[in-house]
Amino acid sequence: MEEIKIDRIIRSSRKTYGMEINKKGELIVRVPNRASDKAIHKMLDKKKKWILSKQELVRKRCEQKHPREFAEGEEFLYLGNNYKLYVLDRNRPHLHFNDNCFVLSRDAIERAESIFTRWYRQQAHKIFLERTKHYSSAAGIRYNRISIKDTRTRWGSCSGRDNLNFNWHLVMAPLNIIDYVVVHELSHIEEKNHSKKFWDKVISIMPDYKNHRNWLKENGHSLFF
Ligand SMILES: [Zn+2]
Repeated sequence: MEEIKIDRIIRSSRKTYGMEINKKGELIVRVPNRASDKAIHKMLDKKKKWILSKQELVRKRCEQKHPREFAEGEEFLYLGNNYKLYVLDRNRPHLHFNDNCFVLSRDAIERAESIFTRWYRQQAHKIFLERTKHYSSAAGIRYNRISIKDTRTRWGSCSGRDNLNFNWHLVMAPLNIIDYVVVHELSHIEEKNHSKKFWDKVISIMPDYKNHRNWLKENGHSLFF
């Protein structure tokens, strides 16, 4: 028989038994102050099937998602390449990228996700501005301004006022993918839909756009933490 491992028992003045499986797949049990070990295990035995299947689900999800711990040795994508993270006791700024690796300050690990996000957003703004200027003058399409957005559902968009919005996660992708999204949104300034005329415009600026579009469809999910 498979033994169920309890990761944490929380006793309180509650009268009922409760349990949860957290994001790491750990079993947390909440019991009345005076609950005996026997009573706790009796309760777990009844729920065994549910606990094991839930933990299995969390484990599978973790394998797919590689949740970030911001620990030394973890790798982070930038412009299509993976860079190792090093953690130093004291590092200013908290996060530094030196073209070979990322260096994070140990005292910033708790906030690492927001520090990385801010760093990626800053790079995204710089890179998208430069690439948009480049393609704008190359294709002779004038835009108003660009903004960097945080969304899971769109890579970019073009407003009625010809403002272009780009998803910061794209700075994890290779530059030619970034360029494709820039060309796509710039083309929307002339054609606000996905008609043949629109795609003809895209092709005239970027003849091999289909490869990049497919890359995004297949690999887009990897650009998220
Ligand atoms: Zn579009």
